[in-house]
Amino acid sequence: MNDLLPARLKTKLPPHTFDLLTKAAGLASERRWQVYLVAGYIRDCLLDLPVRDIDITIVGDALQVAEEMADLAHAELETFGQFGTATLKIAGDLDIDLVTARKESYPQPGALPVVEAGDIYHDLARRDFSINAMAVELTPTGLGQLLDPHDGIGDVQSTSIRVLHDRSFRDDPTRIFRAVKFARRLGFAIEKQTLELILQAVRDGSLYTVSMDRITRELLLILEEPHADAMLWDLDRFGVLGAIHPLLAWPYEPGKIRPGPDELLKPQERQDTYLAVMGAETGTDPDEAEKLARWLNLPAPYVKMMRDSARLAGLWSKLGENAQSNWQTYNLLRGLDLRTLQAYARIEALQADSVAWRRLMHYINTLRHVKPELKGDHLESLGAKPGPLYRDVLEELLEAKIEGRLPTRADEERFVRERLAERE
Ligand code: ATP
Repeated sequence: MNDLLPARLKTKLPPHTFDLLTKAAGLASERRWQVYLVAGYIRDCLLDLPVRDIDITIVGDALQVAEEMADLAHAELETFGQFGTATLKIAGDLDIDLVTARKESYPQPGALPVVEAGDIYHDLARRDFSINAMAVELTPTGLGQLLDPHDGIGDVQSTSIRVLHDRSFRDDPTRIFRAVKFARRLGFAIEKQTLELILQAVRDGSLYTVSMDRITRELLLILEEPHADAMLWDLDRFGVLGAIHPLLAWPYEPGKIRPGPDELLKPQERQDTYLAVMGAETGTDPDEAEKLARWLNLPAPYVKMMRDSARLAGLWSKLGENAQSNWQTYNLLRGLDLRTLQAYARIEALQADSVAWRRLMHYINTLRHVKPELKGDHLESLGAKPGPLYRDVLEELLEAKIEGRLPTRADEERFVRERLAERE
């Protein structure tokens, strides 16, 4: 399999990116530095999958190499001096992440690691799984040489997700999310001992040693994935979701609750729908859903989404009742966050036979846009003063409009005159 690698490495990259990398590696080698393609790029090349980003490790100074590459490519550079990392953004191309090779140690479980300079083997040893711990050299003397000290190729062939050592999940419990993500994304199995280590880390409370922001970041990344339903199911049955918060749950087998067809959805739309389901899953009390969202430190729009999805779940059966008028539908749904309604409407399982779903769609596509032509100033011109009467007539006008009884402006004018006359 590794015979195929050099050819694939080239074909997966746009030619100018390959030239840029080898040119930069040539310059680096003049200083006796080495440049390697690492991690996801190698994994995805071996599996012949589309690559998502390019990770480069430099045994030398990554920031200097990044600056030289930015000059060569006239590209934008973002540097993170304190971490010794940089991201090169080449218009219309994959981002290139550069990092100085490092050795990491964990002073306490779950804490951020202490970092010191290291060689390429140290850098591969700090990684999460064997399939993400391979490198291919780009410097001219070793160009194309594959380094695979943890038998990543073997695990690609046997389709296994395997950690590099037994302390891995204690050192960094966010790797639990990553194990589940790669397993389901690639159709791999979590290797037996690795799974045992996950379950043990959860039992031992390792998740409590990591900051909630780091947990939530990994969880949100999962919600963007095409197979997020299966990933959530795994996290739930491994006890991970319940350990984060008792109300966080995914009791649905893979395939049961999914947003619509993957090829039509943006990652953000998938994420919204899964969050909406998880909000609804807390029960029908919006306060509980909000508490969960705040516990997860979610940004404000997501807090609103979880809150409103619990409200929507609470009124779902009412929305499906017989003989609902459009005005009743409107009143049930008005004031709820539109993004939440759209997210909820994407849940495939709700679409099949549901009157409630059709009403939700009717509200999203039509009812919420209905506005009478007449506004308050028209009422004032007829002598009505702002106050309860004024509000009541405008509300009745909206109701009649939504019920389709006022197709023209003249109908609206007649309606308002009649209502005002009745109230005098
Ligand atoms: P993706 O296709 O999702 O971007 P990736 O492998 O590129 O996959 P990143 O999250 O971009 O994943 O991380 C890049 C590399 O950094 C990983 O392949 C892995 O080697 C390493 N890495 C990332 N997170 C961790 C972690 N928590 N612990 C150890 N290594 C990690």
